[in-house]
Amino acid sequence: MKLIGHEKTKEQILDFLEKDYDSYSFIFEGKNCIGKKLFALYTARGFLCEKNIRFGCGECNSCRLVNNTVAKLYENQDLNTHPEIKIIQPEDGKIKIDQIREAIKFLQLTSKKGKVLIIDEAESMNLEASNALLKTLEEPPLKSMIILITSNKNKLLPTIVSRCKTIRFKSLSQEDIKQILSLKGYLDTQIEKVLDIFDGTLCMPFVILENEKVYNYSKDLFNLVMLFVEKKEIHSEAIISLSELIDNLDNDSIFNIVAILEILFYRQAMKLEFEPDFYEKLIDELNKLKIAVSKGVKKKLAFEGFYFNLVR
Ligand SMILES: [Zn+2]
Repeated sequence: MKLIGHEKTKEQILDFLEKDYDSYSFIFEGKNCIGKKLFALYTARGFLCEKNIRFGCGECNSCRLVNNTVAKLYENQDLNTHPEIKIIQPEDGKIKIDQIREAIKFLQLTSKKGKVLIIDEAESMNLEASNALLKTLEEPPLKSMIILITSNKNKLLPTIVSRCKTIRFKSLSQEDIKQILSLKGYLDTQIEKVLDIFDGTLCMPFVILENEKVYNYSKDLFNLVMLFVEKKEIHSEAIISLSELIDNLDNDSIFNIVAILEILFYRQAMKLEFEPDFYEKLIDELNKLKIAVSKGVKKKLAFEGFYFNLVR
């Protein structure tokens, strides 16, 4: 795997690493699905590299083990991972104090080159867990690196934030996304499709690549709404049969359809394709649709309701 995009961010991380501190504490902040965890692993690779090369030489024994960790995480390969890297993430939606205690013990064990703790979705730490981590951030063990990954650092304790160097990750460009997907082996035709709902992250592209129906139904519904906007046409039969198809999807797919529609409609709004009132109504109806589905309203009825409320 390669690090793609985030060129300025790379420089920022390297500048900080070159200061040669005894220990490092980072916050990697940015939207989901833009590569923060992969960057954390490569930062760890550089820190642990036997040849001390920037993001790691890629060839020494330590770098090879980090490569295994990456392959295990991203490609489900069954490999021996790097013993000096620990990754923790929420269990049942929370990172609890026991997880942090265990991680701190791990950091305190001696090692030749150093130890790295990566906390994914760090905003999921409860207060006890945060306080336990804070103590370690105040006096980090020698040769340790702690990387907190989060989509919003304001959800962390301010005392934690002030003890870390924040690295802010921006959205990916269309070019970055093309490059990442083609390296993963996707075809140009598939890539064009996902760029249609480009929002600077890889969340939606992966949803669409895994489930084409979600994209197709979203597009159909979007087109039906646009026919009303542009020509005042109402297609009752089309929406009824589309809603029947959608009725067979699970809730996650429905929420993904709503997310895709939000992106598509937002883009139209930016092109001033809607009356302001209509766009407001659209967003409102999309929210109602989400709530209805999460409350168990039949999906078919929820989608028909969405459409007919709009065109009424
Ligand atoms: Zn190396």
